[in-house]
Amino acid sequence: MKRICLIIATTIAALSLGACSEQKVTIDKDIPAGNIVFERMVNDTVYVHQELRGSKRAWFYWGFRVKGAQGKRLTFVFTKSYAISPRGPVVSLDKGKSYEYLAEEGATMYQFTYDFPKSAKEVWFYECHPYTPEMWEAFLNKPHKGKFETGVLCKSPKGRDVPFLRMTPQNNTPKLSVVISCRHHCSEASAEYVAEGLTAAVLEDSELGAWLRENIELTVVPFVDMDGAVDGDQGKWRLPHDHNRDYTEFIYPETAALASLIAETQPQMYIDFHNPGLKKKDNYIYTPYKEHTLPIDIAFSQLIEKYQEGNLNYSTADDMPFGVGWNTAKNYTDGLSAAHWVGLNIKSIKVARSIEIPFTHAKGTLIYPSNMREFGHGMARAIKAFAEGEADAILQEQQNAEK
Ligand SMILES: [Zn+2]
Repeated sequence: MKRICLIIATTIAALSLGACSEQKVTIDKDIPAGNIVFERMVNDTVYVHQELRGSKRAWFYWGFRVKGAQGKRLTFVFTKSYAISPRGPVVSLDKGKSYEYLAEEGATMYQFTYDFPKSAKEVWFYECHPYTPEMWEAFLNKPHKGKFETGVLCKSPKGRDVPFLRMTPQNNTPKLSVVISCRHHCSEASAEYVAEGLTAAVLEDSELGAWLRENIELTVVPFVDMDGAVDGDQGKWRLPHDHNRDYTEFIYPETAALASLIAETQPQMYIDFHNPGLKKKDNYIYTPYKEHTLPIDIAFSQLIEKYQEGNLNYSTADDMPFGVGWNTAKNYTDGLSAAHWVGLNIKSIKVARSIEIPFTHAKGTLIYPSNMREFGHGMARAIKAFAEGEADAILQEQQNAEK
């Protein structure tokens, strides 16, 4: 007969299971952007759920750490709502330096099982590859070509600095001004690697980098919902409406500041990076077009496809016309999104879009920081082609064919 052990609750966030003579297994959220509620552990099954933290609908972001489970086979069950990608969680055995899909076998949207290696004293699990402000700082601190300005867009509601980056050509009037943002939905962390890859192309020591620095003005706002990105909130469906439905009321300081920055900058291109849902149908890169989408914006998609790098297999055929699926006017009853507001209000704008990067795989290819960065690098090539008139040429060809 099994011995019954006492469950000792240490804190609300971190509960420990006294395993008698066995080592103690602990589950907590004391990792960057951590989010979990430990409910109970019964034999080798751990029951948990994600914290919604003010989201009005169930959403699926979470991140937690397990200590003292080396050599065990544990099953983690999410009790409230689905929260796991078809490829299972990303798992780090080196405290966040790298992640792998190590618990895919048998994973469902509600549970996964992991065999802890005998040497794994501490293992981190996340719903998707995390991207924290420290990672952005580390990226900026790498050796780069070209000078860029960094500054504070505004203070977040919790008093954090919301950063931005700007690079302006030193000698030329820019051919194109591009504004990029991420984390209107703070839990959509992994799409940020694409934005980083795009930014890296502008800062690299190459012919492409030199051309971009001479000809493009680039502004990047990497963490719109800064507090949520640091704290590990869901962000999506945040009450009373989330950051990407705030471009009607502007209740968040970050959205108001970003809108002012865009109005001052008068860019021709605005790209807002997102991750979509977790279900099977969401596993490819796409842009949902809007009522305001211009033909030249759709032509830009052809350039993204043409110049793409890496193995994520983006195709313009995957883009979502307005009026299809979730992409209808009903989706904006809470308020305008950033791309929608830019499309309607910025006179200089030609491209005003969001782009959805799947969480864990694109058409069967597993997603990692490396191939997301490569995709971003290819997007920088597409931006160069756009600035050189290639999208205009596509439109001209289309018009000629229609005659
Ligand atoms: Zn989003």
